[in-house]
Amino acid sequence: MTLPSTAREIHLASRPTGYPTEANFELVEAPVPTPGDGQLLVRNLVMSVDPYMRGRMNDAESYIAPFRVGEVLEGGAVGEVVASNAAGFAVGDVVLHFAGWREYAAVDAAGAVPVDPGVAPVNAYLGVLGMPGMTAYAGLLDVAGFREGDVVFVSGAAGAVGQVAGQVARLRGAKRVVGSAGSAEKVAYLVDELGFDAAFNYKDGPVADQLAAAAPDGIDVYFDNVGGDHLDAALRSFNAHGRAALCGSISNYNTPDPVGPRHLGLAVGKRLTLRGFLIGDHEHVRGEFTREVGGWVADGSLRYRETVTEGIEHAPEAFIGMLRGDNIGKALVTL
Ligand code: NDP
Repeated sequence: MTLPSTAREIHLASRPTGYPTEANFELVEAPVPTPGDGQLLVRNLVMSVDPYMRGRMNDAESYIAPFRVGEVLEGGAVGEVVASNAAGFAVGDVVLHFAGWREYAAVDAAGAVPVDPGVAPVNAYLGVLGMPGMTAYAGLLDVAGFREGDVVFVSGAAGAVGQVAGQVARLRGAKRVVGSAGSAEKVAYLVDELGFDAAFNYKDGPVADQLAAAAPDGIDVYFDNVGGDHLDAALRSFNAHGRAALCGSISNYNTPDPVGPRHLGLAVGKRLTLRGFLIGDHEHVRGEFTREVGGWVADGSLRYRETVTEGIEHAPEAFIGMLRGDNIGKALVTL
């Protein structure tokens, strides 16, 4: 295969205030890199757009460094090795790595994980069988300490993480699984396709009222992807000794003035446990996650969707659309 001398990548043009716009990104034609010793040249097939990338667009201290203005962005991607200077990797291998947002990447072999497109489609390694799926699994089981018979509420339930979290709860024996999402189509997806017991559109009315109606006997576990009024509603619906996995707070990512829960005081009397977590600390569940969720995907008992945008030039649009709720399931960009 003859390699091109240049290829496209997306740079951060400027930092957004509020919701990002396409003007914050720049499509740049750059030389295809030459892999050094111990590196692979990878032609990316698919890349991930994730909510946490919004935080990296700010110039702010966080658990992960900010993107740099004028430089290429990064994130999860799966691609095919087209040249290898590293033992153990050959041309044609397919690898998961962290140099997305570009068509060709020079990747350290140490940062490349081989994946088998014969076991699952490459997209799945960025979604249901990848970081978001494992986040759902670890958050529900490890962080919230889910137990059979719990009533579980999942917000952002029709997204990459939420769609898995709700189904793991169902398949592990939840008494009732309730989800919230931002459209009637998503609500129907949750109930009709994924087997949630109840779901509501949080845009239809106060979250607290809708949650109370959907879970009349209260909730035991809350998987929080949204924060703000959703977390507040969960505090009010919690039964005694309820447990929340604080996974994300996307309702506050694009506002300079975040909304916090007003009913945190209820945590005292109800003896609640509210635990934040980062998936990077839960590597120990990977084996069990891959076996159990992989098995459910293979036998069809766990279903999932992806929203796939084609072309690196549309990656900013896919990212912005995901932040606004255009996606059902994992948002991906094929290159
Ligand atoms: P999703 O696939 O769920 O996409 C984001 C979704 O957020 C949108 O589709 C939209 O759906 C919803 N959303 C946007 N704005 C709002 C709002 N104001 N209120 C409620 N919902 C909103 O993304 P992921 O599944 O990848 O991520 C879900 C959450 O998990 C995020 O908070 C993310 O930061 C977090 N996360 C945390 C990790 C960790 O280690 N702690 C790891 C991975 C993800 P809708 O139409 O329903 O509004």
